[in-house]
This record gives sequence, C-alpha cells and structure tokens, in this order.
Amino acid sequence: MSDQSRAPETPSLHQRHRAVTPAWLATYYSEPIELTHGEGRHVWDSAGNRYLDFFGGILTTMTAHALPEVTKAVAEQAGRIIHSSTLYLSSGMVELAEQIAGLSGIPDAKVFFTTSGTEANDAALLLATAYRHSNQVLAMRNSYHGRSFTTIGITGNGAWSPTSLSPLQTLYVHGGVRTRGPFAHLSDADFIAACTQDLEDLLGQVGGNVAALIAEPIQGVGGFTHGPDGLFAAFKRVLDRHGILWISDEVQTGWGRTGDHFWGWQAHAEAGPPDILTFAKGIGNGLAMGGVVARAEVMDCLDANSISTFGGSPVTTAGALANLRHLLEHDLQGNARRTGALLVKRLLAADLPVVREVRGKGLMIGVELVDAAGEPSPAAAAATLEHARELGLLIGKGGLAGNVLRVAPPLSLTEGEAVEGADLLVEALRRAQAQTF
Ligand code: PLP
Repeated sequence: MSDQSRAPETPSLHQRHRAVTPAWLATYYSEPIELTHGEGRHVWDSAGNRYLDFFGGILTTMTAHALPEVTKAVAEQAGRIIHSSTLYLSSGMVELAEQIAGLSGIPDAKVFFTTSGTEANDAALLLATAYRHSNQVLAMRNSYHGRSFTTIGITGNGAWSPTSLSPLQTLYVHGGVRTRGPFAHLSDADFIAACTQDLEDLLGQVGGNVAALIAEPIQGVGGFTHGPDGLFAAFKRVLDRHGILWISDEVQTGWGRTGDHFWGWQAHAEAGPPDILTFAKGIGNGLAMGGVVARAEVMDCLDANSISTFGGSPVTTAGALANLRHLLEHDLQGNARRTGALLVKRLLAADLPVVREVRGKGLMIGVELVDAAGEPSPAAAAATLEHARELGLLIGKGGLAGNVLRVAPPLSLTEGEAVEGADLLVEALRRAQAQTF
C-alpha cells in the first residue's frame, strides 16, 4: 500500500481533548488517564488497569468510590425528581443544611448551597464585603480559593492567577508556609508571634476598613502546608479587635480528613469558630456540591432576592446526606487519623534524600521533593507521578514550585491499603530519585 492510500490515523482521546478544551486546563501525566469506574479505594482506566487512588478523586471521593448507600440514594432520588431549584422546598436540602449548621460549630448558623468550592468562596467574599461595606480583604500568601474572577484574583500564588485584575483589593498575610520565608527558622510560638505582629503592622499601615481574612487551615493546592496549631486563634484576636471577619476555607480540610478534627479551624479553636466557613469537594463524594455556613446576622446581610438554580438540588443533597451518614457512623475521621499516621511513619522510614519533608494531618499528607542542591524539584514530583502510575498508584501534586506530592486517599482507607500504597510510593520515589537527584 502506498503512503497516500493509507487511512488517516484516528486521533487519540488526548488529542481530541486538547483540540476542544482550553489549553490552560491542567491534566496529570504525559499521557493522561481515562478513568472508567471505581470501587472502594480503587479506580480502573479504559485499558483495564487498576489503581489504588491515593488522591481520592481530587479529595472529592471522601468515603469510597461507588459507595452503595450514595449510589442508591442518588438513583432513588433521580427516579422521583432530579431538580426543583431553590424556588421550591426540598426536605433533603433542609435536612442537610440542619446537619451542616449543627456540625459547623458556628452559633446561629445558616447554610447556602453552591455547586463548587469556587462559588462557595465567591459567595463568602460577597457576604463579607457586603457586611463590612468594604472591598478590601486579607488572604494568605501561597493560597488558592478557586478559579472565578473574584477568587483567582485573590490567590496568593501568581502561578494560579492568569490576571492581575481583581474586583477586590487584597493584602497578603504570612503564616501558611514554614519551609521558607523570613520566619522559616522560628519555633511554633515565635512563628505565631511573628506572623501575628506582621498582621498587626499590615493593618496599622493600610488603615481603612478590611472586610475579612480568607484562609485555608491547611493550604491544599499550595502543597498541604500549614502554620502551627493556634495560629488562626492568634489572628482572630487581632481580627476581632478590628471587626474583621474570618472566613475558613474548608474545601479540602473539612469532614474529618485532618484526623484530629472535623474541621481544619478546630486546630485553632481557642478564640472561637470562624464567622464564615466554606465547604465543597468531599461532601458530595464527587457530586457537585459546595456551600457557605455563616452566622445568621452575616448570612442575612444581603439585601437581595436571589435564587440558586442548581445549589442544593435534590439528587446532590440525597447523595451528600447518605455520604455524611456513612462518614459519621463509621468514624472515618478516626480512621483518617490512624491510617494517616501509619502512612507518614512508613514514608519517613524510607529516609530518601529526594524527600525534604513529609508533613500534614490525617489523610492530607504532603511530601516535599528537592534536588541534590536542596532546591525544590518539580521534575522529581512529575517523575514520581509517572512511576507511581506505572506501579498502579494515583497521587496528586502541587506547591508553589510544583514540587510537593499530595496524598489524600478516601477516608475509608484500610491499614493494608495504607501500607501497600506507602510502599508503592516509596518505590516510585526511589525511581524518580535515580532519575532526577
Ligand atoms: N478552595 C480550596 C481550598 C480548593 O482547594 C479549591 C479547589 O481545589 C477551591 C476552593 C475551588 O473549588 P472548586 O474546584 O470546587 O471550584
């Protein structure tokens, strides 16, 4: 057959994806995986390969893949009515709001449901700026809160912000990162004191009326990095004196993932709960749900007559209720604490030079990688992801320099799976180290 008569090659799914989706849409792996189904802590790709999912979707699969209770609740609800909107009453939405308000720790709490973490943070910023009549906000350096115009405009990491324009005026606060910066060498107590003084100085210098501080208790996309316990309590005492609201972005840290606490803010509880809390990711076990919890006084400050077409829809709330019930009845928070400790111990025992630090809480574990000169190594992180994939393990990555592995399996992880996954990860790290260190 001559070259001319050869049939044109069928484009791969990856090529078709690239042709019709934005160039800025991130994927993992040189040849991204097409996932077809999952069960428990495992997922399968279109070639039939099985993977242990150490990224829990993207911290979305909170309990387990294809959890039968969630699947049943969703199917039953879809068979009755899929959608009705906030113009009508929905018993599932009210029940879920009651549960989340009760769990939130915020007194006199009300809940507004959204369909993503971005939209939840957008709504939280809208509430805070309206309540305080100010468009000035505080955010943490190295933070990430979503990809809308408002949330991307306040991120404390230029790599995630394609625009320098923002409807908000943002001031950046130290405290989320311990491994670099002017306070890196300090003890916990001195670090808290230095960051709090820095916040005081900042507020003293800018003057004016600041609406809120928005912060992740553990920075997620930023590489699972966090300040010492108690940092936000110290911040809150300062904020309270100025009447500034504290928004705790619990999109990654909620629902017991951090092991010791149900919410990330509870590691900083001495000065009381946040004024506003946002959630998403895990609550729907992969269904598109987010939301805002706020004191009634703050939630009701908007003079608006608003609807949310998809927020708190019957199918999503049915799935979320089943997911939450399973989580609480099986003490998955306790399981996250136990299996997370096991995982960290196993990773540390490998004592690999490419690993600068293993850190985190519960099943939110960051592994920071460096090169032989001790500099951040995004190449090592990328290589580890590829090797782990070949070994049947999925993990995430992030961090300011893209050099941090993110380990966040579903909270039902068994001890056997924790050991198996840690050993696979150590092997992937060894291979990446041989290539890059
Ligand atoms: N806030 C945090 C802490 C996140 O990690 C993310 C997403 O990764 C978001 C907000 C945005 O959530 P979503 O992607 O659901 O819009």
